[in-house]
Amino acid sequence: MTFSSHNFANQKALIRVDFNVPIKNGTITDDTRIRMALPTIRKVLADGGSVILMSHWGRPLKDIEKKPNLTLADFTLKPVVAHLADLLGTDVQFAADCISDEAFAKARALAPGQVLLLENLRYYKQEEKGDKDFAEKLSKLGDVYVNDAFGTAHRAHASTAVIAQFFPGDKKMFGLLMEGEIKAGEEVLHNNKKPFTAIIGGAKVSDKILIIENLLDKATDIIIGGGMAYTFFKAEGGQIGNSLCEDDRLDMALELLKKAAAKGVCIHLPADSIIADKFAADANCSSGLSKEIPEGWMGLDIGQMAIEQFKKIICESKTILWNGPMGVFEMEKFQHGTKAIAEAVVEATAKGAYSLVGGGDSVAAVNKFHMADKVSYVSTGGGAMLEFFEGKQLPGIAAIKG
Ligand code: AMP
Repeated sequence: MTFSSHNFANQKALIRVDFNVPIKNGTITDDTRIRMALPTIRKVLADGGSVILMSHWGRPLKDIEKKPNLTLADFTLKPVVAHLADLLGTDVQFAADCISDEAFAKARALAPGQVLLLENLRYYKQEEKGDKDFAEKLSKLGDVYVNDAFGTAHRAHASTAVIAQFFPGDKKMFGLLMEGEIKAGEEVLHNNKKPFTAIIGGAKVSDKILIIENLLDKATDIIIGGGMAYTFFKAEGGQIGNSLCEDDRLDMALELLKKAAAKGVCIHLPADSIIADKFAADANCSSGLSKEIPEGWMGLDIGQMAIEQFKKIICESKTILWNGPMGVFEMEKFQHGTKAIAEAVVEATAKGAYSLVGGGDSVAAVNKFHMADKVSYVSTGGGAMLEFFEGKQLPGIAAIKG
C-alpha cells in the first residue's frame, strides 16, 4: 500500500515524524524538519482523516543522567505546537505524555481534520530499546501507521520499526518524505547511469570507510576531499604537515586504494590544497601540493588545480552522490573548494545528471550557497543516509517493506 493511494477519510493516522529540531529558550531556530513533514500531514487532513504525530527530541534520559540539574521538561516538544499550528493553519492539540490515558482520550476524540502531537517518545527508555510492549501500546493510538522519519530510519526503535508489526500490510506505509528519500537513494544505488561519481569529503576517513567500500562496487569515480584526503596522502608517503590525519588508518587507506584499482574505480585525490598556518578564520594562507605540505602548515581546502580536476569529472557524470565538504567551508577563506564543487554539481544537474546531496555538512553547504533547489535531491537523513549508502538495511524501511 502506498501513502498516496491510501484514502485516510475518517481514519486516524499515527505518523512517526522527526521533529528533533533545534530549540533555544523555547524558540525553534531551524524548522526545516517540521516543514518537510507538512505534505504528509496535509494529505491525511485533506482526505478527511485525523493526525497523531509522534517524535523524539534530544536524548532526555541520557542527558539527565549526566547532568542532574536537567529535567524532562527541558526536552519537551511543546514549543513545536504553536509553530506547527501556524504552518498548518489549524489548531494542534498536545498530549503531555505519549502513552498516558490523556493521550489515548485525546486520540480517540480526534475528529477529521484535527491534529494531535504527543510528548517526546524518549521520555520512555523503552523507545530506544525497541520495547515490544511499548510499541504495541503506541500502535493502539491510530488506525494506520505512517513512518515519515527518515532521520531515524537506521534505528530499530519502538516507534520507528518495532511498532510496524502491530499493523496489517495495508495499514502501514511510508510518508511522502520517507518515500522521496528511498526513491532518491535507490536511483543512485541501483538505477544509476554511468559515469557515476561519488564525492566524499569531511573530516574523518574512519566515518566514511564503509560508504567508500560499498561504492567501490557501484561508482566509476570517487572524489575524496576534505580533511580525510590527507590520511591518503600520508599513507602514500607524502608530507602533510599538521593536516588532519588518522594515523591508525594509514594501512586501511592504502588497502582502499588497492581495492579501487583492482575494481577499476578511479579514486581522485586533490592534487593541491589551500594551506594555513593555524586552524582559524584569520590564519595566513598559501597554496601548494597536497603531498608536500610544509611542517607547521595544514590543508584546509582543496586548491585550484584540484577544483579544475574535480569539476571536469563532475561535469561529465550522469549520476552524482555528494557527502561531506571539501574543506573547512564554515570559514570564509576555506569555503572556495566546497562552493566550486557545489557549482559543478549544479552545472551537471542542469545538463541532465541525477544528483543527490546528503549528510549533515554537505547539506549545510548547499544551503549556505543557496543551491539546494538546483540539485536533484537533498537528503534529510545524516546517519540514516550514510547507512543507506553503506548498503545496510535500515530497520525503519525493512519494518514496512518486509
Ligand atoms: P564530516 O562531519 O565528517 O562530514 O566532516 C565535516 C567537517 O569536516 C566540517 O565541519 C569541516 O569543517 C571539516 N573539514 C573539512 N575539511 C577539513 C580539513 N581539511 N581540515 C579540517 N577539517 C575539515
